[in-house]
Amino acid sequence: MENNKRIYMDYAATTYTKPEVLEEMIPYFTQEFGNPSSIYSLSRGTKKAIDLARERVAKVINCEPAEVFFTGGGSEADNWALKGIAFANKHRGNHIITTKIEHHAILHACEFLERNGFEVTYLPVDEEGKISIEDLKNAITDKTILVSIMYANNEIGTIQPIKEIGEICREKRIFFHTDAVQAVGHEKIDVKDMKIDLLSMAAHKFYGPKGVGVLYIRKGIRIDNLVHGGGQERGRRAGTENIAGIVGLGKAIELANENLEKEHERLSKLRDKLINGLLQVPYTRLNGPTGKDRLAGNVNVCFRFIEGESILLLLDAKGICASSGSACTSGSLNPSHVLLAIGLPHEIAHGSLRLTLGDRTTEEDVDYVLEVVPSVVQRLREMSPLWDDFLKKGDK
Ligand SMILES: *Cc1c(COP(=O)(O)O)cnc(C)c1O
Repeated sequence: MENNKRIYMDYAATTYTKPEVLEEMIPYFTQEFGNPSSIYSLSRGTKKAIDLARERVAKVINCEPAEVFFTGGGSEADNWALKGIAFANKHRGNHIITTKIEHHAILHACEFLERNGFEVTYLPVDEEGKISIEDLKNAITDKTILVSIMYANNEIGTIQPIKEIGEICREKRIFFHTDAVQAVGHEKIDVKDMKIDLLSMAAHKFYGPKGVGVLYIRKGIRIDNLVHGGGQERGRRAGTENIAGIVGLGKAIELANENLEKEHERLSKLRDKLINGLLQVPYTRLNGPTGKDRLAGNVNVCFRFIEGESILLLLDAKGICASSGSACTSGSLNPSHVLLAIGLPHEIAHGSLRLTLGDRTTEEDVDYVLEVVPSVVQRLREMSPLWDDFLKKGDK
């Protein structure tokens, strides 16, 4: 029996698509397949479906439907926000502020902009992964055109003080973008109240399909296109619409929002049980904050004296899907840039394990993981020369 067990604890990497979401998508592959740009009546249904999805998104984040633009996912939305704002506003300045713990979709886009005449400040974070408002204020110059700070971190779950950041940026007339890919569908977001100018999301992080996302762009903001071509998305994002994907995103965000508070509470409890259980393993530390400043489904710990990658292999053999560092960097020997930014030395950052919970996670799953992980860690430590050294010499 045990061999067939499969416990998915990598919801931050991607989620399954909910059956109700898939059901709404299917007709748009087989029957309602008309190109929304065509004028015959077959395409009327697809146009309406896109409008409905736009309204559903707008309602959840409190913006106008006309401020919602569909993209090919979270990475595209992030790239569009950064490059689009940078190139369209370079007459005003060439300075951008972000953080050291962003997703690579932001960091690599920033590096690209640095090679093209822009200057980027990467704000440090404290030991819990939070930026300091003072640092942000001090980093702003008269050349600053954009601040891009993620809503919640994908590795250690830290939620940033978004409203405060929004207020500072609005007052200084600097555009504020937030990569909210980990937060949408999980945290309550109000772009008006939080003074957010641009926001990225991706459907596959809230039980929608992969390959579709949104960039919210506040009305009146000057931004260049990223994808040039036809006149889709009111001339701002070319390419025949991914209708089924857009329909799925709309349905998924609506469902997530209906359940948000209840699921948040349920997951927070499971998360805390899992954290407390894992911290019983000797020489283990929690990465990221506790309580309300942490994503409800995020657990990230470091076990000293072992390698995260080897934990993953042994957990996989026990049917547990987990992650170490971020998906994009696994396979490389570099420890996570996020764990280094919160001040962990390389050797400790290497022993990280991220477990992210979601709507199919049960208390039995948590219990099973708590049964398996301590023995896996013990086994690996017994094979580890670092552990051996430590037992002989102690912490030197
Ligand atoms: C997953 C993720 C992305 C990338 O989204 P894709 O849809 O995979 O392109 C960007 N930012 C964060 C914080 C993420 O978690």
